[in-house]
Amino acid sequence: MKQSPEQQIAALRLQLAEYNYQYYVLDAPTVPDAEYDRLYRELQQLEQQHPELVSSDSPTQRVGGAPLAKFSQVQHSIPMLSLDNAFDAADFSAFVKRMRDRLDLAGEFSFCCEPKLDGLAVSIRYENGVLVQAATRGDGNTGEDITTNIRTIRAIPLKLKGDNLPPVLEVRGEVFMPLAGFAQLNEQARQQGDKVFANPRNAAAGSLRQLDPAITAKRPLMFYAYAVGLVDDPAGYLNNSCHYQRLQQLKDWGLPVCPEIRLVEGETAALAYYQDILTRRASLAYEIDGVVIKVSNLNQQQALGFVARAPRWAIAFKFPAQEMLTTLLDVDFQV
Ligand code: NAD
Repeated sequence: MKQSPEQQIAALRLQLAEYNYQYYVLDAPTVPDAEYDRLYRELQQLEQQHPELVSSDSPTQRVGGAPLAKFSQVQHSIPMLSLDNAFDAADFSAFVKRMRDRLDLAGEFSFCCEPKLDGLAVSIRYENGVLVQAATRGDGNTGEDITTNIRTIRAIPLKLKGDNLPPVLEVRGEVFMPLAGFAQLNEQARQQGDKVFANPRNAAAGSLRQLDPAITAKRPLMFYAYAVGLVDDPAGYLNNSCHYQRLQQLKDWGLPVCPEIRLVEGETAALAYYQDILTRRASLAYEIDGVVIKVSNLNQQQALGFVARAPRWAIAFKFPAQEMLTTLLDVDFQV
């Protein structure tokens, strides 16, 4: 018997909630991302057709998973959101059109184009240039306190460079495991008869969410900054007009920023960036699952605002799926 839309929606929510738990809380996914994305889209489409069935506990309205109880919790004063997805040029065009209509804009946007790093999002708080706290994204509002673990990642400065620094600066970015380090770590595990990690994202998440920072310290983790959270900046040191310029400023202050990030003018140039990175994907030193295209003008960002789980001014333009189900199922997971 054919299920009603209500039943279909309930079944999809239940299934996606279980996948979310495995992925975000246990760091042990059981299906490839492409399969998760397919079911997520199905749910999104059903909810669009039946808006009366949308509820705040739907996976389409929420970010990530609950923080693990073994860590102390950190409240994010500015939520750490997710991103909407585009899977092809038509999706991307629709995203640009939505923004243009909303702003009543005839011209083109300046886009900050960034690789979509496949790791986990963290927020790092600097007070007067000194690293004082770091947290995972968690469910977007509450993350896990991972300060001692973050301090073991050599790429992350414990103190920022320069004198003209905002008294409070939350830097947001991705902790990930470069492919060479990932291969080495798994080779070591194999030789010692230990379980291997399924993929670099899994390895990064498992390595960072350790209670013993000595374990994290031995893992080859890297970090790239890509955004700013809460800022207290009475003197106005932080660039206030352009996201791309802000990233250059973070770099000047000593934070690693991905060298592939580009500022481009207009939709066609953003599509060309996507194509270029897709072509070079296999030669990059880290795994990415797409590119993130962001409106760079901060006034436009503010005018566009947010929906429940994502900003309106950015989109994750995903690459075609690479990962096979067998890769995931053949491997034992290690957390
Ligand atoms: P997402 O990964 O699609 O996008 C948001 C995240 O992108 C951010 O939180 C940040 O961590 C990351 N990111 C990387 N580079 C960035 C950049 N330059 N700028 C901004 N953000 C950047 O969203 P999500 O909510 O973290 O996860 C959803 C995705 O995770 C799904 O689409 C699916 O692919 C995967 N997932 C898989 C399973 C599974 O069971 N296999 C379960 C849940 C989620």
